[in-house]
Amino acid sequence: MDMILCSDCQKNETALNCGMCACAVCKSCAQFLEPESFEFAPSVTPEIKHGVFCQTCYGDKVAQPLAEYFDVLETAKNIDVYFKDQSKETRLVRRKEKPVSVAPCDDRDDVVMKLAYFAALGGFDSVVDIDLKSEKVFIGTYSKLVWKGSGVPAQAKGKVINTDKSIWHNPN
Ligand SMILES: [Zn+2]
Ligand SMILES: [Zn+2]
Repeated sequence: MDMILCSDCQKNETALNCGMCACAVCKSCAQFLEPESFEFAPSVTPEIKHGVFCQTCYGDKVAQPLAEYFDVLETAKNIDVYFKDQSKETRLVRRKEKPVSVAPCDDRDDVVMKLAYFAALGGFDSVVDIDLKSEKVFIGTYSKLVWKGSGVPAQAKGKVINTDKSIWHNPN
């Protein structure tokens, strides 16, 4: 690997590059993003998911979307979620939106969180008719279980009959 001078501090040599502008940036100047950053956001440009940034790019193009992401995530945690088998409870809720599907996740709760994030992004307070399915996928000789799901973003607060607060855990 070629070592070149960091364009931020002009002191240290580095083999790291900023994921946005591709300038050389040393370990002590670089800002790092965890691979899980923006995990629940439905669409994030690949550049922003790249793990290394120079200080300029981080400040200009990453810090703000990251702060907004955490804001929406906080809202998403307060989204009420109702599963398909709770259709009795949610029968007064109007379904105006199309069902949203999320890409397969390793974790069942992550599917629900992605649906909640999507609803929070659109200004909804709930997700209804959540349908979760697990599926075996093969990676070479290994297989693992992945979860997929869909749900309908809705304004359900105040319209749900007999709310069960243990909504995150399907009794089945
Ligand atoms: Zn540096
Ligand atoms: Zn940069």
